[in-house]
Amino acid sequence: MNFCNQCGAKVDLRIPPGDLIARHVCDACGTIHYQNPRLVVGCVPEHEGRILLCRRAIEPRRGFWTVPAGFMENGETLQQAAARESKEEALADVEIGSLLTIVHVLHAQQVHVFFRAKLPIPEFAAGTESLEVELFRPGDIPWHDIAFPSTEYTLRRYLEDKAAGQEPHHFAEVDRRISR
Ligand SMILES: [Zn+2]
Repeated sequence: MNFCNQCGAKVDLRIPPGDLIARHVCDACGTIHYQNPRLVVGCVPEHEGRILLCRRAIEPRRGFWTVPAGFMENGETLQQAAARESKEEALADVEIGSLLTIVHVLHAQQVHVFFRAKLPIPEFAAGTESLEVELFRPGDIPWHDIAFPSTEYTLRRYLEDKAAGQEPHHFAEVDRRISR
């Protein structure tokens, strides 16, 4: 951040009084610009043992496969966000189930939250952010073409838990920050 989004003046990066972390501070209008992690919410929709994946039509990772997921909006719950993303990316009506994974993606300043989900009727199609949408048997999942580490982690936990007949939730973290 170089300029204040409230008044347009140049901002300074420094630790405000009483704080512990450097912030972008605007001396013109006094605004302190806090930057906090963003929530990405998704689900693993299943229909009769097959899993719904979307091939991304947008960067990052265009052309790679992922489960339906995206940024949470204000005014919705995690489950509503997960269902909405399935509708947008796969034109699929899913029933959101239990919490599956929480992945802290530290280098991207994001927290990814995934739920188990059912796709009762196998009706789906590519939304505007998808090139194609497909149901995969577990043995056919394109592991080498999965878009993100959090997606792969989530799919692997999903399949393991299903094989074990359990529905726990899992925490993980991904950190690809460059050390300085
Ligand atoms: Zn300002």
